Amino acid sequence: MSIFNDTQIAFADKSTSQLEKAKWMFTMIQYPSLTNIGIDALNFTIKNNFPFVEGIVKSTLFEQFCGGVSREESSKVVTQMFKHHIGSIFDYAIEGKEEEKMFDHTCEEIKQNIKFAEGNPAIPFVVFKPTGFGRLDLYAEVQKGKELTTSEKTEWEKIRKRYEEVCQMAYDRNVILMIDAEETWMQSSVDDLVNEMMEKFNKEKAIVWNTIQMYRTGRIEYLEADLKRAQEKNYFLGYKFVRGAYMEKERARAQEMGYPDPIQPNKQATDDNYDAAIEFVMKNLDKISAFFGTHNEKSTELAMDKMNAKDLANDDHRIHFGQLYGMSDNITYYLGNQKYNASKYLPYGPVKDVVPYLTRRAQENTSVAGQTGRELGLLKKEIERRKNLR
Ligand SMILES: Cc1cc2nc3c(=O)[nH]c(=O)nc-3n(C[C@H](O)[C@H](O)[C@H](O)COP(=O)(O)OP(=O)(O)OC[C@H]3O[C@@H](n4cnc5c(N)ncnc54)[C@H](O)[C@@H]3O)c2cc1C
Repeated sequence: MSIFNDTQIAFADKSTSQLEKAKWMFTMIQYPSLTNIGIDALNFTIKNNFPFVEGIVKSTLFEQFCGGVSREESSKVVTQMFKHHIGSIFDYAIEGKEEEKMFDHTCEEIKQNIKFAEGNPAIPFVVFKPTGFGRLDLYAEVQKGKELTTSEKTEWEKIRKRYEEVCQMAYDRNVILMIDAEETWMQSSVDDLVNEMMEKFNKEKAIVWNTIQMYRTGRIEYLEADLKRAQEKNYFLGYKFVRGAYMEKERARAQEMGYPDPIQPNKQATDDNYDAAIEFVMKNLDKISAFFGTHNEKSTELAMDKMNAKDLANDDHRIHFGQLYGMSDNITYYLGNQKYNASKYLPYGPVKDVVPYLTRRAQENTSVAGQTGRELGLLKKEIERRKNLR
């Protein structure tokens, strides 16, 4: 039996009516056709400012997967989770807005998050998405090695400056800054920037962290090269390890454009690669700190077992675990209960602007084999347990 089955611990923060609502919602999003119709309707109504829809979204999907419309509104959730030894990682969840004004605004928001996190153990990391700081197509052009136009050069310099500024601020305030990973056709230019920042700011400890997607082929070789460079140039490495969120898109593009699929051939191969990353970290703890961002119980247990085999304390500062808010509470709350370094990504932002994030969560819970079934099973178990107490 899984060690993550204690629903009393998992849902300690949820009222029974919240559990009932979550059960209803996961039941609805279990059906792909229903979800897709719902998403189309949602996008249409939000785009056209139907006033009542925002309220409905706020009290359903938003309440399940987001902390609030602002950092301040999300603080209640932060305080509540920290009582269970669970940190919050503010995730400014606005996506797909490609204007300079918006990139500056996002950069400013990340700076505010760094200030908020300074000296605050309830906020162990600050995070940003590369496409929050610049256009995907420009990252891709840089990756291709294309000669940039004068205006593109200026734009790229602005991206670099945003990275420099937030990394410098994180360093000055001793806050760990994690950078998300996105599509393979732009990720190398992100990796290059992040490596540069790591070299500059990680001399004493890992302040800047990159994200490694283990559904990609060749990532262990990538890590080995990173490690060699860090050893030669004498700096520390920090990584968030995930499986990867863009598989369908990656495969479709590779096929359409006729290049080799960058994703592992099947789920087992991705799982094996993720295990190999855990092994890699445990062998190189003198240089590497890691955050295992996964809802996979086996991976989480494997990392815990390896820590145990090495006699590491559960809260060893080099090892962290994290899940998304609204998902896999059974893992996060168990880890918190056992005093591991556990956190939740806590998305926030205006309801209208986080709709793309919410629809991805709904779709993911439809398509990720077993995830919704697991969530529903746990919710039903806890509702039943509470009924029997009456
Ligand atoms: C805290 C946190 C932060 C995250 N940050 C990022 C990020 O920065 N960038 C990002 O891309 N994702 C990110 N993710 C999402 C992550 O990459 C996964 O999509 C998601 O967590 C599901 O994977 P899993 O390990 O939780 O669970 P599982 O359910 O065990 O794995 C599902 C994953 O396995 C892989 N997979 C499924 N089927 C196949 C197949 N046929 N062949 C090959 N591989 C397959 C896919 O990656 C799929 O998402 C984050 C997740 C968390 C929890």
